[in-house]
Amino acid sequence: VLPLPPLVHHLLSSTLTLLAFAAIGALLQVAWPARRDQRFFRPGFVADLLHSFVNPLLAAPLVGALLLFSGARGAHPVGLGALPTPLQAVVAIVVVDLVGYWRHRFLHTRAGWACHAVHHSSRELDWLSNERVEIGEMVTTNFCQAAALALCGFPPEILAFNLFARRAWGFFVHMNVDLPFGPLRYVLVTPVFHRWHHSTDPRAANRNFATFFSAIDWIFGTWFLPAGELPAELGPGTDPVPAGYVEQVAYPWLTWVRRLVPRGSGPASAPPAG
Ligand SMILES: [Zn+2]
Ligand SMILES: [Zn+2]
Repeated sequence: VLPLPPLVHHLLSSTLTLLAFAAIGALLQVAWPARRDQRFFRPGFVADLLHSFVNPLLAAPLVGALLLFSGARGAHPVGLGALPTPLQAVVAIVVVDLVGYWRHRFLHTRAGWACHAVHHSSRELDWLSNERVEIGEMVTTNFCQAAALALCGFPPEILAFNLFARRAWGFFVHMNVDLPFGPLRYVLVTPVFHRWHHSTDPRAANRNFATFFSAIDWIFGTWFLPAGELPAELGPGTDPVPAGYVEQVAYPWLTWVRRLVPRGSGPASAPPAG
């Protein structure tokens, strides 16, 4: 079998991944819907597909360059790669979730919000909402993850496993589903837990930052999951994020330029306060 050109490989593997999670998301949504009236082809579907296919192509070379120039690749000050492989996999997910928790908290400050507002701009969440991640955010996220794991001494297989596991869990927690998790909700991030993170409810502002382990939010006092209640409204609050793909990719950069060169008044990009 001839190796496929990288672009064809990317298109094929992305398509198969999206089809798999679309099927899982659609089935779970029928059985345990969070919002019953939500359509499969909801507003923003095409923009999210473009984010999914195009952004990783633009982010990957930048992440590679950052890893190379920072010296993170090849630096192994902590020898966690000597642990048994299953344990490495678990520890890697915990390490990345801890790093990701604080990275995500930073994205909810005024400095980081313009980037992250794009992810929060979905007003109807489903599996595909996971893919709406602006390129600057994608670059910093993937760099922080890879650098943290390389510094811990994990081998490339564990880095690949982490990417796969986090993407799969990311698809899951954005699904339009209300699955009963019981006491596990204090340990794991569930779709409803993350749905509250996307809500405009002031009670949920600056809550539920973890991706995998809700226990991290519990430890740092940002855990929020009211019993028997689902958020009424989702979205970026008062932030004027545009609807189109190109406009969304440009949005943080234009916001930052406007901050340097203030011109007139209009709705400004600001994180939700709570
Ligand atoms: Zn967020
Ligand atoms: Zn999200």
